Amino acid sequence: MTTHSGARPDTTVRRTPLLQHAPLPDMLLEALSQDHEIVDFNTLTAAAFRERAPEFEILLTNGEDTVARERMQSLPALGLIANFGVGYDGIDMQAAADHGVRVSNTPDVLTDDVADLAMGLLLAASRQFPAAQRFLESGGWAAGGFTWTRRVSGSRLGIVGMGRIGEAVARRAWAFDMPVRYFSRRQKPGMGYECEPLLMGLATWADALVVCLPGGKETKGLIDAKILQALGPQGILVNVGRGSVVEEDALIRTLHAGELGGAGLDVFATEPRVPNELQGLPNVVLTPHIGSATWQTRQAMSALVVENIRAYQQGLPLVTPVG
Ligand code: NAP
Repeated sequence: MTTHSGARPDTTVRRTPLLQHAPLPDMLLEALSQDHEIVDFNTLTAAAFRERAPEFEILLTNGEDTVARERMQSLPALGLIANFGVGYDGIDMQAAADHGVRVSNTPDVLTDDVADLAMGLLLAASRQFPAAQRFLESGGWAAGGFTWTRRVSGSRLGIVGMGRIGEAVARRAWAFDMPVRYFSRRQKPGMGYECEPLLMGLATWADALVVCLPGGKETKGLIDAKILQALGPQGILVNVGRGSVVEEDALIRTLHAGELGGAGLDVFATEPRVPNELQGLPNVVLTPHIGSATWQTRQAMSALVVENIRAYQQGLPLVTPVG
């Protein structure tokens, strides 16, 4: 078809470029690439980045990435940071506010998976599932039974950070007849669980602590040697929040000294590095930050990122804004 002037119309719609700043699942990138050109930050030379920087209005990131003030300053058109994940401690939120950059994340859709994992880690660390499997596979069973472990049902559960994931863990604990108390920034009187005003009080009371806190300056190192010692030689620490919340050196020391009963950890101080001292222990269960890593949840998280970008581009309120 030609126009009245005889010239061919330009049917090539220019796809908006998105700056991909961290690894993201193929399903999300495929969905976005229908309407956008995805530019992987890591493939750009410094010169190519400088040249293209003014084009990027949207930056894609994940919950483990760092988006610092300098990066925002280098992107003059930046208006949205779309985070694939609920935790956004890697994003400089003050800088985002200063630059008028909006931020979205993916809450709620991952809550059940992370709470499932927390309960799995608690059971696996208390009952020593991985060590029991290693025992069986190395032929130990023929020579006698596996060591006796500690019961989870009916034991006292302390939740550190009573937000969406914390509450979902508490709901699961109900089915295990576990009394629940929590320590959090604010009391949640409507929930029906007892609030411990001091973390030390919670650690002293609990048989197991499940950490569901975000990362960042305010929560850094909250779980220190004193808290771990208060949890005690029979106590179990589960961390599905952020590695920075637990003083990892203190955790290693207390575990090796027998001052802490065991640990189930999905998050670590310097991922993907996991200290050797945490590996190979019968009472420690480790997973590589897989809290939300199921097909169903990753699909829902991807859909939420797409919806937030669409809302931003249409000038509508973000579906799940942060801040
Ligand atoms: P959330 O609903 O915001 O819950 C966080 C809770 O922590 C809130 O109750 C909050 O208090 C409390 N809190 C924040 N700062 C605190 C402080 N300094 N002292 C005491 N309590 C504090 O978030 P969520 O959806 O449950 O997610 C929690 C965290 O889990 C995320 O930020 C992320 O780091 C982590 N996560 C991990 C995985 C994984 O794969 N392992 C997956 C998803 C999320 P308020 O109620 O006052 O806000």
